[in-house]
Amino acid sequence: MEPGLNLTPRLLRLFVVAIFVPSPTWTAAQDGDALKPYIKEASPVLVLEHVRLIDGTGAAPKEDQRIDIESGKITQVQDASPNRAHPSKAKVLDLSGKTVIPGLVGMHEHLFYPAPHGGPPRLQLWVEMADSAPKLYLAGGVTTARTAGSVEPYTDLSLKAMIDAGQIPGPKLYITGPYLGGYLGRAPQMHTLTGSDDAARTVDYWAAEGVTSFKAYMDIKPDELKTAIEHAHAKGLKVTGHLCAVGFREAAALGIDNLEHGIVVDSEFFPEKKPGICPDGADEGLPKNVQIDSAPVQQTIRDLVSHHVAITSTLAVFEVSVPNRPSLLSQNARNFIRLSEVLTPEALSGYLLVRNFYAEGNPPDEARLLKMEMQFEREFVKAGGLLLAGCDPTSYGGVVPGYCDHREVELLVEAGFTPVEAIHIATQNGAIFLGQDASIGTVAVGKSADLVVIAGNPAKNIDDIENVEMVFKDGVGYDPEKLIKSAAGLVGLR
Ligand SMILES: [Zn+2]
Repeated sequence: MEPGLNLTPRLLRLFVVAIFVPSPTWTAAQDGDALKPYIKEASPVLVLEHVRLIDGTGAAPKEDQRIDIESGKITQVQDASPNRAHPSKAKVLDLSGKTVIPGLVGMHEHLFYPAPHGGPPRLQLWVEMADSAPKLYLAGGVTTARTAGSVEPYTDLSLKAMIDAGQIPGPKLYITGPYLGGYLGRAPQMHTLTGSDDAARTVDYWAAEGVTSFKAYMDIKPDELKTAIEHAHAKGLKVTGHLCAVGFREAAALGIDNLEHGIVVDSEFFPEKKPGICPDGADEGLPKNVQIDSAPVQQTIRDLVSHHVAITSTLAVFEVSVPNRPSLLSQNARNFIRLSEVLTPEALSGYLLVRNFYAEGNPPDEARLLKMEMQFEREFVKAGGLLLAGCDPTSYGGVVPGYCDHREVELLVEAGFTPVEAIHIATQNGAIFLGQDASIGTVAVGKSADLVVIAGNPAKNIDDIENVEMVFKDGVGYDPEKLIKSAAGLVGLR
């Protein structure tokens, strides 16, 4: 029997009733107390004392610092000297042994998750994680997130409004519109553009609805991309892309602001690539003979840098296609235990099934592509490029908001960046790209108190970034354990 067709009239009635009975959360939201269950620290004047500070600028960590917070803003950053008085009415938190970093600025985040076990054959479907994703991003220390492509733009916009109104916990959201271009007809939740008029109409419509950026996708044609960029730029909005029919250098010449995933999705290295068409085999990554230190790739890097095109690193989503990575037994075991807490049983089994498939099939190219992308990202930064970080909770699952943001930073370190550089990429660089670096992305006087308190020292051992003890957003300290508990068993469902 088809699942979903065997609802009895009684169950149906229950379902209808359940929709219309106000939930406790909704009632609480009306009282303005909706966030209380997730908050650990709400004093308007706070002193974080004896912290190790990694300030997000890429500067070396400073030991034994003191950060003063008042009305959501950072008012002092200084040595924790016993001779300095605390502000009156300040609540002082002794955070000896902890590290404070800026709130993460996730630049390739989504509010959806792949439908467990996929949709019908050859169709890709995603389920909106309206309940769990905002909580898990915040629990992971992501205080700002760009959604980098939406399958339910109205839901994403509503969630942003609810978070901003204090009705639900979550990061500061920068909503990206629906994917522009479609995915070769295989993803029915995406609109496939019918030409440049359609691109103009779609950009204008969603800009008016409140999205603040756009994501061009896979089979978008050069003329559609050109029009989308013109219409977005006319409104002061930016366009990023995960492209295939258009190559990176062509997109840079058209004025794109950002490219997702990096060189391994650039189609321009396929010798048989025809203008405006995604070449066969592009799904599997770069052709085998392409080397990062070769002249054409170096030319692409120079071209992207000179056109000020940022690249978003999404190593965590690539990693799940590499056999036996991340290890479920060694360094990433803590993350995996947490994952199994928040995924539905069906989503967990779906994830493990495909992992196993990769482990047994042992595809030879995936590890090579991950290494190649890491090398590209290092060289792009060395050439002066702006590298952003995000975790892209897509693929076949197992890439989960918050956790994948930690994994992304760990993988940047594996790529060869120092821990402090990796944190800089995941904080200040995103803030710069968003044009918000005057208020977020670093720990400095006058900025919003968006801070992550971490047990341990991620400058020495980057895996410590997983030990998030408290997350401040605008000076309010959230309890990651409570946020995670409230999302338990929901990823894959809602
Ligand atoms: Zn994505």
